[in-house]
Order: sequence, then C-alpha cells, then structure tokens
Amino acid sequence: MFEKILIANRGEIACRVIKTARRMGIRTVAVYSEADAGARHVRLADEAVLIGPAAARESYLVIDRIIAAAKQTGAQAIHPGYGFLSENEDFCHACARAGIVFIGPPVAAIRAMGSKSEAKKLMEAAGVPLTPGYHGDNQEPSFLHQQADAIGYPVLIKAAAGGGGKGMRLVEKSADFIDLLASCKREASSSFGNDHVLVEKYITKPRHIEIQVFGDTHGKVVYLFERDCSVQRRHQKVLEEAPAPGMTPERRAAMGKAAVDAAQAVGYVGAGTVEFIANQDGSFYFMEMNTRLQVEHPVTEMITGLDLVEWQLRVAAGDKLPLAQEQLQIRGHALEARIYAEDPAKGFLPSTGKLIHLAPPVENLHVRVDTGVEEGDEISPHYDPMIAKLIVWDINRERALARLLQALADYRVVGVSNNIDFLSRLAACPAFSSADLDTGLIEREKAYLFPDDVGVPDEVLHIAALAEVLRETALADKRAAGGSDARSPWHARDGWRMNATARRSLLFRHGESEHVVEVAYLPGAYRLSMDGRSVEARGELNARGLLRVELDGTRMDASVIAAAGRRHVFARGRAWQLAAVDPLHHSGAGGGAEGGLLAPMPGKVIALVATVGVRVEKGAALLILEAMKMEHTITAPAAGRLKAFCYAVGDQVGDGAELVEFEAETGAAA
Ligand code: ADP
Repeated sequence: MFEKILIANRGEIACRVIKTARRMGIRTVAVYSEADAGARHVRLADEAVLIGPAAARESYLVIDRIIAAAKQTGAQAIHPGYGFLSENEDFCHACARAGIVFIGPPVAAIRAMGSKSEAKKLMEAAGVPLTPGYHGDNQEPSFLHQQADAIGYPVLIKAAAGGGGKGMRLVEKSADFIDLLASCKREASSSFGNDHVLVEKYITKPRHIEIQVFGDTHGKVVYLFERDCSVQRRHQKVLEEAPAPGMTPERRAAMGKAAVDAAQAVGYVGAGTVEFIANQDGSFYFMEMNTRLQVEHPVTEMITGLDLVEWQLRVAAGDKLPLAQEQLQIRGHALEARIYAEDPAKGFLPSTGKLIHLAPPVENLHVRVDTGVEEGDEISPHYDPMIAKLIVWDINRERALARLLQALADYRVVGVSNNIDFLSRLAACPAFSSADLDTGLIEREKAYLFPDDVGVPDEVLHIAALAEVLRETALADKRAAGGSDARSPWHARDGWRMNATARRSLLFRHGESEHVVEVAYLPGAYRLSMDGRSVEARGELNARGLLRVELDGTRMDASVIAAAGRRHVFARGRAWQLAAVDPLHHSGAGGGAEGGLLAPMPGKVIALVATVGVRVEKGAALLILEAMKMEHTITAPAAGRLKAFCYAVGDQVGDGAELVEFEAETGAAA
C-alpha cells in the first residue's frame, strides 16, 4: 500500500479522500490555490502545496504544477477526485511519465469512454443495450436531420464530448431540427472544443439509473448495485438514492451484467459508473460511463457498508477486489441531497460569501455530512458553490426519507443563500415520497416546490422577538458581571420599571411588510402581542443561537442567528430572514428607513450616487451595487439625509451588510 498520496482536488471530495487515507494510515498531501489557502482540505491534510492563483485553469488544472507537488513531497500516487483532471488523458500520461500511480482507470478506458459516440460504438459491439439513435461520424446537417426523422421525434441532440448536462438540445419536431443542431454545435465547440454530436431518441418520463462498477488489475469486475439519480434540475442531479425504488432482483442483475460488460469491454480498472436511462416499464439503455468516483458514491457506501475510496486505493496498489459479486449485499436505503450555495427563488443563481453561521446536523449511523467548508469559510466565486452533501441511511426508504427531512430541518446556514428549504420541499413532495420518479419531477412539481409567499407566520415573529429580548438580557448580565455593582438596577434588562409593567415594541421587516411585536415583561416570561393577539413566551437562548421556546405552553426548538441587521429564524423545518429595525433610529410612521439600506445580496459597490449631507427625496438613488452580473440601485427609503457611505467603490460587500447611514426626516412618510 502507498505511504503517501496527493489529492489533486479541493472541497468536499478532497476532504473525503483524506478521511479514508488517514484511517488506512496513509499520509496525505493537499494542493491548493491562493483562494483556498485556509480551506478545510488544506487544514486536514498532512502537507499542502500551493499550486497557483484562484482560477482553476491556473491551479487545479495545471498538470505540471500538480506533478511537481507530488514529486516534491514524495507522494507515490495521485487521487484526482471528480471534475478537474479526473478524466484527463494528458494527466494520466504525465503521472505515468513521473512514475506516479494515477488512482483511476487506465488511460485507454478514459479515452474510450471520453466521447459519448465512441463509447456507444464500443457498447454496441459488447452487446450493451443502446438508446435508438445515430452516433456515427457523418456530421452533415442534412444527413443528421434525416436520421432524426427516421428515429422519430422527440429526439435529443448531444455533444459527443459533453458533460454536466451541457451541450444537449431537445428537438420536438422536424422543422426545428436544423436550428437546434446549429445551436448545439455552437455550445459544444465553445464548451468542449469539439462540435461532434450524436442524435438519439428522447425518452419521455425517463429515470436515470446508474450502476457502480469496480474492476481490479487481475481482470475481475463487479457491480455494487444501482443509484437512482432521476431527480434532476436541467439535467443535473439534485437528489440521489440507492437502491432504486421499484427495482426487481432480475432487472438489477440484468443492469449489473450490462454494466460489467461495458466495463470489461474497455479493460476497466478502479471505480466507474455506467449510466443508463430507463423507461417507466423498466427497459434501459446505456447512456455513458463516468470513469471516476461519482459525487453521489456515498449512497452506495451506505447500503453496502463499504468504503469506495479504500477500494480505489487498494486496487490502485495492485490488490485484488476485496469482495466477489456473491459477497456483495444491499442493506437498507440511502438518500443524498446536494446542499448548494444558490438561490432557488432567483433561478438557482449561485451565491457567494462568508458562512457566518454553519450548523450541520449531528453525524451518526444514520446521518453523514461530506463537506469542504466550516463556519467562517467563504463560498468563493471561483469554484462549484457546493456547501455539502447530506447523506442519510435507514432500513427502508420511508424511514430514510424521514431522516432526510429531519436532517434538512436541522441544517442551519447563514451567510449565503442556499437550497435547503427547496430540498426540504422536494423531499416532502408527494411525487418524491411516493417514489413516482422521473427526470421531469422538479419541472412538473413547480407549484408545490415554489409556493406563493404567504408571508411570515406570527410564530416566527414571536420567536424572533423572544430571541431579541433574551439576547439583550444575556448581554446585560454579562455587562453587569463585569461591572462594579452587579446588583445595580441600571444593568437590569428585564424591563423592570417603577410603578408600571414595562413595555416596548420590536419592529421586524420581512420582504416589503413590517411587523411590530409589543413586548410586555412579566415575571420570568414575556407577553408578546401583535395586532391585538398575544401569547405568553419564555425560553432559553444559547451563544450559538439555539433557542428553546415556549409559546402559550407549546415547547419547540428553533435557532435565531443575528447577522448584520438581519435575524435568521430557523423553525419548523424552514428558514426565515427578517430585518431587525431599530425603533430608536426608525423615523416616520410605518417608514422603512433602514432595511432598504442593507445589501440585498453579496456584491460589489460600483457607484456612490448621492452626496453625503445633502437632502434627498424618497426613492432617490444612493448607491449602485453589482451582484450576480446585475446592477441594483439602493434608494432612499424616505426623504432625508445621507450621513455616510459605509463602503467605497470597488468594495465587496456581504449579504445584509449596511451600505449607508441614512437619516430620515422626522415625520417623513416612507
Ligand atoms: P452528461 O454527460 O452531460 O451528464 P448524459 O448523457 O449523462 O449527459 O445525460 C444527462 C441527463 O440527460 C440524463 O441523466 C437524463 O436526465 C437526460 N437524458 C440523456 N439522454 C436522454 C434521452 N435519450 N432521453 C431523455 N433524457 C435523456
């Protein structure tokens, strides 16, 4: 076995590989870009080598630097992870020349599977079922058009060199073919440097079912069963599970055999995935083979009890496969959800910024979190904005799904937009819970997945208000403890007043609407009132924002995280963002003096429009922020005076950062 390996990757997969290597007593070398100097994979590895600037093509994709790092540290083998150089033939050759083991398949297998059309030719010869279509060399548009007509519409045009859901066009009718072919070829040549395409029958309501295979250098290939990755958004996987719901032992054996045949046809060694597209009736066709470890491999690990990275290392070191086909077994059911820094409400735009608060669910036998980040880390614009993979296991699908929902409800992220609430709704939607799966599920369930905003429930505002007063009390206690007279009534924040019950108002903004919560201090509790309705509240808040709440005798757990003028409330499996408006600075009845002056998303200040000290009307432009390639004008919430800009042109600002200090005129209506 190797004594030291280098991991030519970053993020969760680098951390994942390091974990197994460490368990096996293998030392690890990380490589990193300037943007990743403090990244988790760098912190976890035994050694780390800087390989270049942030841009991947100047660091993680530079073969020479990575080989040099391996030589310099004496690493005997390189694990490429997924993406980056994992399926790059030149990289395999460079490893071989340097006498370093590439932990992956032989270069010939990568080449054979690198082109979707070449792979299909090979699979045809090996007797693996293929989607009806044309995957030959003739690229004449009129010829391809004839082929499409013969296959029958709808058809899919696919870039032979495509990947990651890119370079595909669905053609519904003959008349559209030529235009869509041209656009597919344009995208293929700009994205993959190769405009070769194939045409195949478009399967309606298909499922994506893939088989994990493993080969060794002694000629053995086994399959580690299937994963169902049908739940996709724009051909990219969102939820994955194993085994596939509804799979029969016969079909599993048939798909397993087809996958092993495919692997054997190219002399496969190591971990690989053979992807099939399956009809609702269960018939299946070869789609492509991925010659690396897949993002979703943990679900296979959970149901087989195996460590696939360990298998990769053992096979790469020349060992025989640890188990034979008959020894492999499925136990229970596993689900994986990909947690991304992205905003579902804004078309899943990637979100970047600092993870101000990051509290994943507790890991145990049932819950696993594979991640490359910790609280305080940045999700940078340079790489894939994945925060983590959440994997759950239980004895059957129903129970695994319950675990998933609970784990998603417990996952708390503040600082970047994220898809956790979306994943919760997706996992809970009837089509998914009843396993009525196909690749169109998300599109079809839109109404359920993106419900109209019904506004913020009273309960959430009560929780936010309770957290606010508890936080103040804790702060006052701390000050008092440090002060000269801990008993001084002036430190008390329990609202104690002579001759009267103390009262105050807290003001929160949610989207466009404002909510006032009146707080009355009672002995050991608070009376929270909104529009005449009131509840008695008590609770305990810890320093991590965890809140035990009791509202009129009903107890529950929630979290309230305060960050940059916002209150992030996590309750009942959902997250809510409120702007906390300080009533002392809040001028004008019903006005929105402060909230509009917070950055609505992370971005860059590109212009300071107003002049400090000069009076402006309500709605006047104060500052322009560029975020997600769009300009956002921050305007005056009321007539008033700009007191100061908090940032200069060119500064990056985080989500919720205060952009300007603004003073609304007394009595000015917002
Ligand atoms: P990529 O390499 O970009 O991942 P794939 O060939 O693996 O491309 O296809 C990605 C996804 O596109 C599949 O998971 C499936 O949802 C869809 N897809 C591919 N081929 C077909 C087809 N013939 N009919 C319907 N959907 C397809």
